[in-house]
Amino acid sequence: MLTGSFPPVIMLHHVTDDPALDALKPYSISRASFTRLLDVLEQVGYTTTVFCDVDFRKGKKVIITFDDCPKNLWDFALPELQKRGMKAVFYMPTAYMGGHNDWDIQFGKPSVELMDEADIKRLSDIGMEVGSHSHHHVRLGELGAVEVAANLRQSKQILEKITGKKILSVAYPFGSVPKEEELLLKDAGYEYGLSIYSPFQSRYCIRRFIYHDGDDAVRLKSKLSVRYRMMRVVNDKLLYLKSLRHGQ
Ligand SMILES: [Zn+2]
Repeated sequence: MLTGSFPPVIMLHHVTDDPALDALKPYSISRASFTRLLDVLEQVGYTTTVFCDVDFRKGKKVIITFDDCPKNLWDFALPELQKRGMKAVFYMPTAYMGGHNDWDIQFGKPSVELMDEADIKRLSDIGMEVGSHSHHHVRLGELGAVEVAANLRQSKQILEKITGKKILSVAYPFGSVPKEEELLLKDAGYEYGLSIYSPFQSRYCIRRFIYHDGDDAVRLKSKLSVRYRMMRVVNDKLLYLKSLRHGQ
């Protein structure tokens, strides 16, 4: 179980004002929304942290995460983070490095260029943390243990070779938590697993909240509160029960 001192974890994907990517909302946010996020975090007194910081659970910390590693993050989000001395964790589905978001494209969503090997190295070199988003960007909860293990190991190996650093965490694509996640993550050498909604929480199944254009400063502050996290304990259980009823 995770204690209340665990930092809130924010999930982001794209930061762009390109109208061609509007169809990716709420997973694409405007530059103004991103600026608002960082402004509010500073105003409220949060410091950004990442999993490799030994003190990441001490003090008023927040973890910003980016799934999929689109190249567009270099245009605004990354310079903005650097300007403010902030850190974030970037989750790469390694089979798609230098490719595109095929898992969105197959559902008619816009194509986005993803970071390549040099981008991942650069992220690590400028002090950002890199994590795994599985190898094939698949729903790990629907795969058998052998396939899950292969996805976890392969992406970890590739990212460690590029960065020269230990890869500590994995963000489950689509928030789909594998069965026996603790055993499989430990076996593959991970220390943390990130979901989105989850009926329970542990270090291998950490809840995240989605920040989107509709979250003004008041809503954002509420999502950062302990009260919101307590509410998610109930809300996520109800969502889970509902999904069981619908046989999902
Ligand atoms: Zn993803």
